[in-house]
Formats: sequence, structure tokens, C-alpha cells
Amino acid sequence: MARKVIIIGSGPAGHTAAIYAARAELKPLMFEGMYAAEVAAGGQLTTTTEIENFPGYTSIGGPELMEKMREQSIHNGAEILTETVDQVDLSVRPFRVLANDVWHEADTLVIATGATAKRMKLPGEDVYWQKGISACAVCDGGLPMFRNKPMVVVGGGDTACEEANYLTKYASHVHLVVRRDVMRASKAMQERTLKNPKITVHWNTQPLEAKGNGKSLTHVAVDTKGKGQWDIEASGLFYAIGHTPNTSFLGGQLKLDENGYILTEPGTTKTSVEAVFAAGDVQDHKYRQAITSAGTGCMAAMDAEHYLASHA
Ligand code: FAD
Ligand code: NDP
Repeated sequence: MARKVIIIGSGPAGHTAAIYAARAELKPLMFEGMYAAEVAAGGQLTTTTEIENFPGYTSIGGPELMEKMREQSIHNGAEILTETVDQVDLSVRPFRVLANDVWHEADTLVIATGATAKRMKLPGEDVYWQKGISACAVCDGGLPMFRNKPMVVVGGGDTACEEANYLTKYASHVHLVVRRDVMRASKAMQERTLKNPKITVHWNTQPLEAKGNGKSLTHVAVDTKGKGQWDIEASGLFYAIGHTPNTSFLGGQLKLDENGYILTEPGTTKTSVEAVFAAGDVQDHKYRQAITSAGTGCMAAMDAEHYLASHA
């Protein structure tokens, strides 16, 4: 028999949708993923240490916060399968969802599969990931290990500029490493960045290696066209080279923006297909926070509930 709601993805968006849908007695089924998109069930927060900006917790470990959300989903009656969805069929009603070679059916879907920050896979990255290297300045920039220390940001887009400016609150100096002689960021963002006395832009420069003492990052080796290889002293290395939204399993059945994020109707979680709702980072390239993901997860469950009530 078809489910009323299937939720795909298990970060803050998926779990908040599950909690709301379960409390609305919709008996949701969640596919939490089995290392889907190279992230453990529970999502991006399972890859970090302390979360200090999620309301209700002065500080909580990322994996612990996600375990609490999972417990709350189950407590309220959500069913969770540790499986990755390989395919969906949105051309039929009920919708069909394929995982582990089994087709499941549902009247509504909530897509909450998140986005994965691109990594550079530099030598030293595995050693210093979360010991100096991060892909989220807003999340990690304020940590004590970075206070009044030089930091490096890689990228030339809006995120890189935004993060470089943000990090000047904490860093002694920020080095923005741009691989070409131009930036892709908007003019306004570039101007703000170039005017900031605490930021130095290194054009035509590529990072080569993350170096340190085994416990923490101390330098980033780079190559600058015409200058050759040199080291930048840095306690922090922040990647801002883009995210990959986890939408490939949709097989082009939902409208996406030019970067692959699911398009939603402003102010709702409605997608281009009626009764399919999207929440969290998979539809948000701008805010990308746990709390905003949770907020849209709540909206998606309520949008699904309203749809089901009006099509009963
Ligand atoms: P995600 O957390 O990305 O979770 C999506 C889940 O869906 C993943 O588990 C994935 O495996 C699963 N999935 C993907 N595809 C499938 C599929 N086909 N089938 C089944 N499952 C699938 N935000 C903050 O607010 N505060 C912080 O301090 C903070 N720190 C961060 C630190 C790091 C290192 C990173 C990377 C991010 C951090 N963020 C922080 C951002 C925050 O983690 C994200 O905004 C948030 O997790 C997005 O939630 P989400 O529910 O949209 O998706
Ligand atoms: P983008 O894809 O726009 O930019 C990525 C940047 O990283 C580019 O400069 C790219 O260089 C560089 N890059 C990619 N791979 C590498 C690599 N391997 N080595 C070195 N550099 C690399 O991603 P963003 O996250 O910046 O932005 C995504 C979207 O979100 C955009 O549409 C942006 O406008 C939007 N956004 C808007 C904001 C706002 O309005 N306030 C804030 C943040 C994002 P190259 O240019 O050479 O390809």
C-alpha cells in the first residue's frame, strides 16, 4: 500500500519533516541513506565537532545533535530505513521510490538530500580536515583555534568573498586564493572584498598542499603563476569552491536551477511537480545552515499535510 509521505534524506531538514509528519499521523517513511553522497546518515553535521549556533544548545557535538533528532523522529512514530534511494518515478501516482532494488510508493514526497561541499583532495587534507581545514566559515570560523591567526580561503565566487569578509572578524589576516586573474563573484561582493584591508587577494594562485605539525595546520603551500611555489602561514584553510546538491537520483524529473539546486515556489517548499516538496540545502544555495534546513523541513511536512488534506 502507498505511504502518505516518503522523506528522502536524514539531515536536519529530513528529521524535522519526519517529526512534523509523524505528529500529524501521516506515518512517514524516511530513507536515511547508506553513505549517500559520501555522507553518513544524519547528514553534514555528522562530519563536524561542536555546533554552537543551534538554538537550545550552547554547544553540542554534530553527531550527538543528529542522533537526538533521529531519536525524536522515531519517538514520534517515523519509520527509518538505512537505505539510499537510487531512483524515483514522478510520472505516476502514487509516486514510486527505488531503494535496494525494491520499489516503494507514496502520495507525497519530501526531498531533503542536502548538498555536499566540494573538497580539493590536497595532500594533507585527510590529516588536517577539521584540524584547520573546513568548508564552512560561518560554522567554524569563530572557533578558538582560529582567533587572531592568519587564514586562507580558496575560491573566487560569492561564497569565497562572503566567507573571507566574515573571517576578518576573527583572523589576524585573510588570504583569498583565486585560481584565475578574475573572480566569478558579483561586482559588489568583489569590491567589498578588495576594499577590506584585512584581506589580500592572491590571483592566479592554486593551493598545492596542507602542511602542519601533525596536530594542526600551520601553512598552505601554493603555486602562483610567474612566482612559483611558496608557503602561506595559516591556521585555517577554508574551501569555498562550491557545493554539489544531491539531486542526481531525480533523473531530471524536477526543475533545477543552473547549479543543480531544486527550484521551489518562493515562500513554500513546492517543487515543479505537484505533491513533491523540497527542504534544506538541496533547495538552498544561500543560507545552508542547520536551523534554516530544519525550518524548511517543517514547512515541507506542513505543505504535504495540506496537500493530502485537500486531496483526501
Ligand atoms: P544534509 O545535512 O546534507 O543531509 C542530507 C542527508 O541525506 C545526508 O545524510 C545524505 O547522505 C542523505 N542523502 C543524500 N542523498 C540520498 C539518497 N539518494 N537517498 C537517501 N539519503 C540520501 N550548520 C549550522 O547551522 N551550524 C554549524 O555549526 C554547522 N557546521 C557545519 C560544519 C560542516 C563541516 C559542514 C559541512 C556543514 C555545517 N553546517 C552547519 C551546515 C549544515 O550541516 C547544513 O546546512 C545542514 O546539515 C543541511 O541539512 P539538510 O537536512 O539539508 O541536509
Ligand atoms: P561558484 O561555483 O559560484 O564559485 C566557485 C569558485 O570556486 C569559483 O571562483 C571557481 O573558480 C573556484 N573553484 C572551483 N573549483 C576550484 C578548484 N578546484 N580550485 C580552486 N578554485 C576552484 O560557487 P559559490 O559557492 O561561490 O556560489 C554558488 C552560487 O550561490 C552562486 O550562484 C552565487 O552567486 C550564490 N551565492 C550568493 C551569495 C549572495 O548572494 N550573498 C552568497 C554565496 C553564494 P573559477 O571561477 O575559476 O571557476
